Amino acid sequence: MNAKISFRNVSKSYPLKNGTFTALDEVSLDIADREFVTVVGPSGCGKSTLMGMAAGLVEPTSGETLVNGEPVTGPGPERGVIFQQYALFPWLTVRKNVEFGLRLTDLSAPEVRSRAARAIDLVGLTDFADVLPKALSGGMKQRCAIARAYAVDPQVLLMDEPFGALDALTRVQLQDQLLDTWSKDQRTVMFITHDVDEAVYLASRVIVMAARPGRLFKIIDVDLAYPRTEDIRLSPEFGRIRNEVWHSVYHQASAVPTA
Ligand code: ADP
Repeated sequence: MNAKISFRNVSKSYPLKNGTFTALDEVSLDIADREFVTVVGPSGCGKSTLMGMAAGLVEPTSGETLVNGEPVTGPGPERGVIFQQYALFPWLTVRKNVEFGLRLTDLSAPEVRSRAARAIDLVGLTDFADVLPKALSGGMKQRCAIARAYAVDPQVLLMDEPFGALDALTRVQLQDQLLDTWSKDQRTVMFITHDVDEAVYLASRVIVMAARPGRLFKIIDVDLAYPRTEDIRLSPEFGRIRNEVWHSVYHQASAVPTA
């Protein structure tokens, strides 16, 4: 497999008063170039820790993470990160928020403006480009955060429960939009979610993790064609895979008391 992201025996432990707490235990996983992988598992099983390693925000206690075959030593422009909390600057308009990340690159000012405008258009926010985040709904704020990541044109998107705070309809719309963009740009996507339906709908593989210690539990292939549609969501095969993922997660959740 042509791995875009490679976790090689990564572990993370934190010191406690008496000993250490293992947040992540010896995880090895390859994510292929242009693959869409979702990660599910009970709270505290290390999903964010694992993604943080790919983002360069969490340093493993042992093992290493490679992106494009190179060890990750910190954040980089080829990896865009999107969190559940929109992390927008409240005093900047949508356009200025999206341009912000681009100003850290060596692009010319006109190029910054046109890239930002394209990303804003892609997420359907053109009419709102000059308003402040407080005037936006939750879904629109998240679109803005997504536009900011898209604008930099990263090869890898790392998304940590990006749609977790949104209502069901907005969520479905953003899922379809994300898949649409992914099918055109063919980025590599690693996407954490609590929502089993969302995990199956988006991914070609669902990574199920277990807690205490955080570890890989099971990898479930999603053999459903793209583009994914409402019909696929209602198909028996989708239901079968969703049940398999749900049982794997539920098995963990019932075996361990979680927060
Ligand atoms: P998840 O994303 O699956 O909910 P996390 O990766 O956020 O899990 O956390 C995994 C475990 O590591 C949790 O039990 C969490 O409390 C613990 N943890 C995360 N960061 C720290 C930290 N800085 N210090 C101590 N424990 C931490």
